[in-house]
Amino acid sequence: MIKSKTAFASTILVFIVLVSGCGSSPNNNTDEISYLITIDKSDHKLARVKVSFSLKDSLLYMNRGANQLPKRWATFVHNVMVTDSKGKSILVEELPDAKWKMFAAPNEKITLTYEVKLDHEDYKWSSGIDGVAYAKDWGVFYTGRALLILHGDEWENIRVDFSLPQGWNVTTPWKASNDNKNSFKVNNMFELAESMIFAGLHQEISIVRDDFELVIALGGAEIIAQKDEYKKLTEGVLDYYIDLMGGIPNPSFENKFEKVVVIINSSTSTDGEVIGNNISILVEKNGGQMSEMFSKFIFAHELFHLWNGKSFTPTEDDTEWFKEGFTNYYTLKSLHHVGFLNDLSYLSVLNDIFFQRYNNDDGTGKLSMTMGEEKHAHWGLIYGGGLFVSIAQDLIIRNATQNRKSIDDLMRSLFQKYGATNDTYSIDELQNLLSKLSEIDQTEFFNSYVIGINRIPIIEYLPLAGLSAKIENGNLIITKKDDLNPLQQNILNGLFGIHDSSIID
Ligand SMILES: [Zn+2]
Repeated sequence: MIKSKTAFASTILVFIVLVSGCGSSPNNNTDEISYLITIDKSDHKLARVKVSFSLKDSLLYMNRGANQLPKRWATFVHNVMVTDSKGKSILVEELPDAKWKMFAAPNEKITLTYEVKLDHEDYKWSSGIDGVAYAKDWGVFYTGRALLILHGDEWENIRVDFSLPQGWNVTTPWKASNDNKNSFKVNNMFELAESMIFAGLHQEISIVRDDFELVIALGGAEIIAQKDEYKKLTEGVLDYYIDLMGGIPNPSFENKFEKVVVIINSSTSTDGEVIGNNISILVEKNGGQMSEMFSKFIFAHELFHLWNGKSFTPTEDDTEWFKEGFTNYYTLKSLHHVGFLNDLSYLSVLNDIFFQRYNNDDGTGKLSMTMGEEKHAHWGLIYGGGLFVSIAQDLIIRNATQNRKSIDDLMRSLFQKYGATNDTYSIDELQNLLSKLSEIDQTEFFNSYVIGINRIPIIEYLPLAGLSAKIENGNLIITKKDDLNPLQQNILNGLFGIHDSSIID
């Protein structure tokens, strides 16, 4: 639809031009959309984006997020211009919520150009800048949602090219074309919008297992100096998870991923975020041991979500304690497996990070951990409490089955049943599966500690692994005993994630 200039004189117009001769433009109808992203050579905080597509409807939009800003992601978008196949300007009206309306003829071949100014760090982001966009001396980080204006939602053949300053590389979750490492093919709009991009002088590690590739981008001298360590850590953690689950991540068809990107940069604080299937981590420069521990923990935690969270997903958020807490447990096991934690540091992390937060969370003893919507406000209750549920259940099952079964069997059965499907598990199913594994009805456990608000008496379960545990001045103090019987020793190995323990007859 073409309108005259005067009809829109009072509206907020990004760009206004009289268009005549409407509807007569040729339509070469190659049903494709392509992006060219240029990072300015002298001003790295300026990105110019050119998008070419055949018109599907009148709308341009950006993905969800940035809700604290009146114009959302459009706060950072400037000079939006649309032209038709003849190069004639097309009227564009800016709408609320980072949307624009184009007044173009149906099926028109459109070229959209705009600029993004990377000023996101000047604003407050409740979950951190790591899921937004930022600049470093060595390059720029963008999430797809912060950088890309979208059109339509059914595209399957999306091409993205980058034009970069001299010597720069780009890391994306997309498949690079064979002849050009700055040219990518994106499978669908989800992969496009839920992406992360780092362009700059960073380094990459690629780890391939079957049809799955994990690419880690390392930025900043301190991080690059640990490249070998990151490679070893990642391979160890990834292989541990693949062995445990019995295969590479297996999400539903719509969320299929062959390549996952982890972007790790040196920064002023330690933080981590997941968008789509990709992971962004910031590591505090000279942050000391705790920050080092946290960044590795975030890394291994998020990787486990490729199975628990992406390959099998819950019906409701009343199982966030399972998704986050059981993931925490396997994170600790994997870090022990690769030697980042030893027995003693593993046990002290249980107190220092988890029990402290669980014990000090003002929801503990007052709220049920099934209130998944509270997981950020009550991290201790849900992430920490969920971890203690996983430990208690694991030890109950191992003790009841002479260490023949464990919650590993639960994870594998969920992966087998729900991998590659859109079906979802429920809290009742978890309770039933756990009861079956131990052959002890867990209704009372669930009613007390999961659905109910009682504190998990973790010190009553740890002795099953031959540990002595007490709570003193708000600290969970766990010590190893010397004279373990063989079953206790095997259960303890299981707690630490050591799998090659012999089975007791
Ligand atoms: Zn998580």
